[in-house]
Amino acid sequence: MSQDPLDPETRADWISQLDEIGQKMKGPSFIATPSDEACQYCEFGRSCPAREQGKRSVE
Ligand code: SF4
Repeated sequence: MSQDPLDPETRADWISQLDEIGQKMKGPSFIATPSDEACQYCEFGRSCPAREQGKRSVE
């Protein structure tokens, strides 16, 4: 099975669509603001880069 090369206009359109999908899939980002009180009950402690145990997951 083979496919002819995309013409430049179609290729640019595909790249544009893939960029848009990629941006939508990134999702939100948040800055971790640790505090003894909040981190004590947080469900993300094991993957949070602000905590020692979470650094293993992101580094
Ligand atoms: S563990 Fe991380 S995400 Fe959770 S409250 Fe603490 S800093 Fe925020």
